[in-house]
Amino acid sequence: MIRKLPGRSLSLRARVILGMVIVSLPLLFALLIGRTVLLPSLSETFHEAIAEVIQETQPIRQLQVLLLNAAMPVNDIIISGDPREVERFDKLSHEIDRMFRETTITAFKLPQERESILTAQREWEEAKARGRAILARGGPRHDAATTRNMKAFDAKIDAAVQTLDYVHELARGELADHLARADAIERKMLVFVASMTGIGLVLTLVVGVLVARSILRPLALLEKGAAQIGTGDLAHRIPPGRDDELGRVAGAFNAMAAKLERARSELEELAIRDSLTQAYNRREFLRHIEEEARRCRRTRRPFSLLMVDIDHFKSINDTYGHPAGDEVLKNIVARLRSSARPTDFIARYGGEEFALILPETDGTNAIPVAERLREAIAAQPVAVTADKSIRLTASFGVATYLEETEEIEHLIARADEALYQAKHAGRNCVRRFTLA
Ligand code: GH3
Ligand code: MG
Ligand code: MG
Repeated sequence: MIRKLPGRSLSLRARVILGMVIVSLPLLFALLIGRTVLLPSLSETFHEAIAEVIQETQPIRQLQVLLLNAAMPVNDIIISGDPREVERFDKLSHEIDRMFRETTITAFKLPQERESILTAQREWEEAKARGRAILARGGPRHDAATTRNMKAFDAKIDAAVQTLDYVHELARGELADHLARADAIERKMLVFVASMTGIGLVLTLVVGVLVARSILRPLALLEKGAAQIGTGDLAHRIPPGRDDELGRVAGAFNAMAAKLERARSELEELAIRDSLTQAYNRREFLRHIEEEARRCRRTRRPFSLLMVDIDHFKSINDTYGHPAGDEVLKNIVARLRSSARPTDFIARYGGEEFALILPETDGTNAIPVAERLREAIAAQPVAVTADKSIRLTASFGVATYLEETEEIEHLIARADEALYQAKHAGRNCVRRFTLA
């Protein structure tokens, strides 16, 4: 028996498409997450860091430039003695003071930054006081006190510039923190993309193997089944497997094999049966009697052959017509069949002559069988037309294999001879061949 098809399953096309979708899912997922979460957070971190550094360091740089500029009028007045240097210094001082005020307001994140700016402002205040003192004394001047004052002034300006440099460094440190965070995000992104790629590869492998197996296995079964049916083994059936394209091909193949098998057995039946009476034909009788003879020679147990001929059959044809004769022939076979044993073999030997092979039956036991068959024909009238029945009889000749001969031809001739004797004895009787 063949397994039943399981419930509807996915078609090959659907399986291939689904496989492709599954394989591409991790990639799509990675793209989506990268586009919507990772990339924006990465670039946001960069932007934030850069904006912060720019916002913090720009005024610091400006301050440093202004501080260095403010040193110039002080240096210049002791060389040139130009009184306009006082005005220049005042202007620059104003500017520096304003910038310090604004810069301290700006939100510096780190307390060290705020503290350093205040230190730089104090240093500037000190430098400014010294600068004012130098400017107040006018120039040109080259005395030792002026040189000392000048050095102290420059030292304070330098100190303020350097303190602001430290603020720069702190800001740079912050930038480094931001960059480290960005690096971490980038690493996470790489790990994520790599694992998605790994999952994608594994899925590709698994889906590929599953899809290939679900196609190749039924294909191999189909190929094997087709080859088997091709050798003539029409009883072979292909396991149908899934309800998909290949399963349906297997189903169609099985249906075709079943049809061929039926057709072949019908043909085989046609070849061995007589079309009118459905009894075995003469050729099958000759084949079967040879087989029975072989068996008998092996077992040394006899079988008997009955030859049956309907009495005065010609007159039935002559009186009621050939089709009525045909019906009578069918009727006689039916009677023989119902009175014979299931193991007895009934064949139409000629026109209205039949041959019966009685296996495992010696001559003595064959006589009552033949008598029973004779009576089955003679006892009841046979319908020849719709409203007419007549009494029919048949004559029987009996010969037994092993007891009289081991030659089939002789056996048939002797049964015929016995039949002839029955006809001669007045018909409707049984005669057994005797050597006497
Ligand atoms: P007997 O008692 O001596 O056997 O006489 P009979 O008339 O039966 O013998 P005979 O051999 O002279 O006639 C046999 C007849 O059977 C001749 C033939 O027309 C008829 N017959 C043979 N085959 C068929 C058949 O298939 N259908 C019909 N309706 N008649 C057939
Ligand atoms: Mg006859
Ligand atoms: Mg005859």
